[in-house]
Amino acid sequence: MIDPRPIWQRTAEQRARAARRLDRERRKARGLRTPRLRTILLVELDAISMPAWARRKAIRGLTITASTVWLGRIDGRVLERLDRQCGGHPKVTSERYRRCRVCKRPLLGLDAEHRLELDRRWAGDGTPCSQECVEIAAARQKRKGGGMIRRG
Ligand SMILES: [Zn+2]
Repeated sequence: MIDPRPIWQRTAEQRARAARRLDRERRKARGLRTPRLRTILLVELDAISMPAWARRKAIRGLTITASTVWLGRIDGRVLERLDRQCGGHPKVTSERYRRCRVCKRPLLGLDAEHRLELDRRWAGDGTPCSQECVEIAAARQKRKGGGMIRRG
């Protein structure tokens, strides 16, 4: 339903709601899904050593050690079960996760929430996530030697 009143007579809340609706409609028109936070798991192995598949599936850009790895939820649970089957008591920590499309870094916790907020705005996914974000993205461009902006 369209509010018949002129825009300056609407409350801030009504304007915000209208803006969100417009965002959703535009996203839909572009075939984009509403961005969401992912949950990832930090698995600390106890009984087994890191399987090769877990290394391959580790979330890129996050620390991986001989006994700890960040994985997606399904992979993380598989690895946890494997360790338990071998008599281990693995420690599993879940964390909110989202990758920044500008600097390509994996963001966790509050940083991930902040990124999500930006991504939910119209064309907000091109907004840098932090101060370093722009510098990292610029350095990457330089290394590639091109002026083209790569999306993905
Ligand atoms: Zn960033």
